[in-house]
Amino acid sequence: MAVQEQVLKAELHCHIEGAAPPALVQKIAKREEIDVSSIIDAKGQYRWSDFTTFLSAYDLASSVFRRPGDYAQLSETYFRMLAAEGAIYGEIFISPDHATSAGLSYRSYVEGLAAGLERAKADTGIEGRMIAVGVRHFGAASVERVAKEVVSNPHPLVTGFGLAGDEREGHPANFARAFRMAGEAGLGLTAHAGEFGGPESISAALDFLRVRRIGHGVRAIESTALVDRLAAERIVLEVCPGSNAALGLYPVLRFHPVNLLRRAGVRITLNSDDPPFFRTTLGREYSLTAKTFNWTQEDLRVFTRTAIEAAFCDKATKERLLAKVDNQKLG
Ligand SMILES: [Zn+2]
Repeated sequence: MAVQEQVLKAELHCHIEGAAPPALVQKIAKREEIDVSSIIDAKGQYRWSDFTTFLSAYDLASSVFRRPGDYAQLSETYFRMLAAEGAIYGEIFISPDHATSAGLSYRSYVEGLAAGLERAKADTGIEGRMIAVGVRHFGAASVERVAKEVVSNPHPLVTGFGLAGDEREGHPANFARAFRMAGEAGLGLTAHAGEFGGPESISAALDFLRVRRIGHGVRAIESTALVDRLAAERIVLEVCPGSNAALGLYPVLRFHPVNLLRRAGVRITLNSDDPPFFRTTLGREYSLTAKTFNWTQEDLRVFTRTAIEAAFCDKATKERLLAKVDNQKLG
């Protein structure tokens, strides 16, 4: 058995609509009479060529999910796939704005997704939580609306609040109020930064949004002072190497800064982001990066451990999962 297949895994950064297997999208699209042939090729894989066509493929694929049962099927399918690769914990970004455009209430969207998480857990034991995200390029009022909705409709499996969307639009200060509201309600906080934006985007997210986790964050490597700050403040990066390579941030995995960040003492986790769009899976992220950077099983175990330590779940669940990771016999 390959090294990476043995190591237990955990994921903190995956957009649930972006995790939809093309076959599931095709099946539901048929029922809804939506034509998805422009975004799924003859081999059954998503078809896109640049950031603009990626976004339109993503939007069309997401648009087929319209009923709570569709979302249950989506989250159950994804968590079963995670569990099959050795994951014991996963967090997914959920997008209340997507639910609205699908004509669903926030509550039925969350209940649908939660039903899928529960079914996958009953069968495989995998734990799952949800992080509701606001869309940055929809503006501060929209993100605040999402925060309000999440806070006033608490659900035991929605344990985090985050910021996704185009990082190049809107200063983090604009979203401080939404994050304060979510933080005061006890939700864990994370924000995408340092993917398409540079080090200043990460510093501003830390200063204005008070997050202890950053989605991507890899462009911190462009500032030694920021790398030192991330290490000193024990900030956790949700790194998605395959996604960054697919979107052209780095030409090949070998040039990805994840290993430099790790060696500088920054706390790293490995994640798949929008896996079928980037022809990846969480297992593949573990195996390809391990091969590229000569990481050992112990190195991989540290990533999983970091993910669970930084997870937005209760202490008892964390301790149980950490014991599983620590007690696993490797190699
Ligand atoms: Zn993301």
